[in-house]
This record gives sequence, structure tokens and C-alpha cells, in this order.
Amino acid sequence: MPRLLRPARVLLLGPPGSGKGTQTERLLKHFEIPGISSGDILRRHIKDGTEIGQLASSIINKGKLLPDDLMTKVVASELRRRRWLSPSTSWLLDGFPRTHAQAEMLDSQELEPAKAGMNLVVELQVSEDAMLDRIANRLVHVPSGRVYNLTYNPPKVPGRDDITGEPLSRRPDDDPAVFRKRLKEYRASTEPLVEYYKKSGDVLWSVAGETSDVIFAQLEREVVRRFGERGDES
Ligand code: ATP
Ligand code: MG
Repeated sequence: MPRLLRPARVLLLGPPGSGKGTQTERLLKHFEIPGISSGDILRRHIKDGTEIGQLASSIINKGKLLPDDLMTKVVASELRRRRWLSPSTSWLLDGFPRTHAQAEMLDSQELEPAKAGMNLVVELQVSEDAMLDRIANRLVHVPSGRVYNLTYNPPKVPGRDDITGEPLSRRPDDDPAVFRKRLKEYRASTEPLVEYYKKSGDVLWSVAGETSDVIFAQLEREVVRRFGERGDES
């Protein structure tokens, strides 16, 4: 039985290193909602050496964004595979859409599973220092997308994923020079999307905080406030 009373269809937006992946992971666990992350999908393509992976790798390492139509195709096929068709389903999107054009493509016929539309867009706001600190201390488990932080959330065995024991790696784009380009891309391409959601009713909700714990506590409260939790019915 779903934990939330009403379906939550959530998009997480925020600059690189703001903790989208971490918050997504915690929401998935806490509320038992399925989710996908565009960055994780691309990193799996790269690991598997697919054609998309080859193209993605060169673009990601430069801190640039993939072309909107290609990205939409990649995410669309994942959405279809997961059959998120019912308007009563909850889901989470991390990192897609992240441009205005992608948002329009998501709303278009092409992406039927997502027709129900987002009802909460979360903007994560953290200081540049915190972002730099995060990317310097981040390790990822590519097959699952699990994220570790050497300071706040280290793996139980150094360099190994807690669940599978498989090796963790650093992201090649988590280097300070590439980070600056990613931040520039964010300001140019994603901030306008945040503005767009700001104008479309009550969907946008911004949250600021320096640590994932501080942000998650607020996010959890907001999700419950908006969608209701089972056991709350009177
Ligand atoms: P973080 O994971 O630290 O929050 P991020 O948002 O920059 O930061 P990912 O979401 O993992 O990182 O994305 C990594 C890279 O994958 C991006 O820099 C971009 O090249 C590519 N990418 C991911 N999602 C998209 C998208 N929706 N459109 C275009 N490119 C994308
Ligand atoms: Mg991410």
C-alpha cells in the first residue's frame, strides 16, 4: 500500500553537487516511490559502452548538456519501460527535464507515461562552497546510482558499495574545472526552467540548507504536507 495518500510526481532541480541524487535516494526509501535519474542512466550507458554512452561520455566530461531531443528519447524509453502510466502512481525524476525545451517535450504526446505531469518541483539551494566540498568528497556506485560522501556518508568498507560490495568510483566530471562549466550550464539552461515553474502555480518549492540532513528534514515535511501520509486520516 502506498505510503502517501495522494500521488506525488516530483522533479528535483538544483546545481551540480547540490545533492539531488542523495535527496532522491532518501525519498525513494522513505516514501517507497520509484524514481529515475538522467545522470545515472547516462553513466550506466557509459559503463556498458553503448553508442549513447560514447557520445554522453565526451559531453559530460566537458561539463556540457546532452542535446534535448536525444536526452528526451533516452528518458522516454526508460519511462515507457517502467510503465508509469496510471495517474495514481507516484514517481520521482532527478535531473530531467532540465531545460525549457525538455519540459515541453515531456508535456508533449511523445511521453505518454508522464502525462499526469509533475505536481511538485523542488529547487535545491546550497552554497558554492558546499557544492565544491560535495563533489570533492563524492563516490558513486554506477550500477545503482547510490551516492556516498567521504565525510557525511562514507561506505562501510572503504571504496566498496554497502549493498553489493562492488567498487565505487569518482565521477570524471567531479573535478573543479568541469564543475565550473556545469554550474555555468545550470545558470544558463536550468535556472530559466526554475523561473518557468515559479510562474506555473504552486508546483515550485525551494529549499536551502548546507547539509543533506537539514534539507531532507524540510523536504520530508513538505511532501507529507502536500500529499498526506497514511495513518494521518482522521
Ligand atoms: P549532481 O549529480 O551533482 O546533482 P548534475 O546535475 O550536474 O549534478 P547529473 O544529473 O548526474 O549531474 O548529470 C551529469 C551530466 O549528465 C550532466 O552534466 C549532463 O552532461 C548530462 N545530463 C544529465 N541530465 C541531463 C539532461 N536532462 N539534459 C542534458 N544533459 C543531461
Ligand atoms: Mg545527480
